Amino acid sequence: MDLSKFIRNVPDFPKEGIQFKDITTLLNNHKAFEEAVSCMESLFKQEKVDRVVAIESRGFIFGAPLALRLKAGLVLVRKKGKLPSETLSAEYQLEYGTDSLEMHSDSVKEGEKVIVVDDLLATGGTTEAVIELLEKVKAEILGICFLIELDGLNGREKLKGYPLHSLLKLPCD
Ligand code: AMP
Repeated sequence: MDLSKFIRNVPDFPKEGIQFKDITTLLNNHKAFEEAVSCMESLFKQEKVDRVVAIESRGFIFGAPLALRLKAGLVLVRKKGKLPSETLSAEYQLEYGTDSLEMHSDSVKEGEKVIVVDDLLATGGTTEAVIELLEKVKAEILGICFLIELDGLNGREKLKGYPLHSLLKLPCD
């Protein structure tokens, strides 16, 4: 199945010059959604995965079914101030200034095998911050998985050293 047909490109959202890749059209088709989760599962089903680490917010949509299928725990990485218990945090760059992502300190233990999931890789800054969190707790990162990788933004460069999978590559412009 060609999953790219289910991604809607929305020009100039949320601001001029951005080609927003809308995944709601894929989620709204149960066969396409099923296919996307199955493809992600097949990348890792030979491995013993302890935790699926999903990035707020669209990463949660893929991370949850993937964790169930892989019989792994689901760990939520959230924007600052959303998680209720003790957290670790890592900063990442926004266009103007910085923001931070947080993970519960006790959610991943040293040596645990994890995979990281998000909907889309653009510049790689968000995922780089998640890697920093996982390095802090000395997790073993088995791989990073995206539904979409945008070509031309060098996101992959920031994450080199880790096995990186994307189901679709789309132009950023
Ligand atoms: P980055 O940190 O630059 O790799 O950005 C990745 C995050 O921003 C992902 O969580 C995406 O959901 C979101 N994102 C960035 N660019 C786009 C885009 N063109 N279309 C849809 N989502 C995007």
